[in-house]
Amino acid sequence: MIPPDLLGQFQKTLPLAREWVAATLKAHRDQVVPVDPMDYRRLRQVFPGALLKRARAVVVTDNPPFPPLSRMGLPEFAAFEAMPISGVTYQDTFFVRDGYQTESLYFHEMVHVVQWDRLGVDHKRYAEKECRAMLVEPAGTRNTGGTGGAMTADDNVWI
Ligand SMILES: [Zn+2]
Repeated sequence: MIPPDLLGQFQKTLPLAREWVAATLKAHRDQVVPVDPMDYRRLRQVFPGALLKRARAVVVTDNPPFPPLSRMGLPEFAAFEAMPISGVTYQDTFFVRDGYQTESLYFHEMVHVVQWDRLGVDHKRYAEKECRAMLVEPAGTRNTGGTGGAMTADDNVWI
């Protein structure tokens, strides 16, 4: 269970995080490029064309920007902020670290674009009751999709 005081801190942090997202998107607006489904053709098999047209990517040379939650009242996130990540999505824009551009990462971030559309920032009230943990993987973490074994699917078979 997440302690109630941490939930209160999350709620206090939300306006700061929202401002940070708006400022971050504004600061990078000259670097955004459309998500070109010609690069990753299978995205078109999954995501509507209008969504692919609207989504934007920013390729950054360093770690993609992550809100300084520890300075916004959530010191529990200090280690989390320092982790290397390969991609992160804010609204319809995702940031990808140069060298990590793959179809599967673009797919992953496009799912987050859909989540932002459907859930937004303010409508995740369910998380207070449902969320028990948040898992963040450092860039390059291998998971069951890539390690080989019973849980690994053939990379080129999409359903
Ligand atoms: Zn993700």
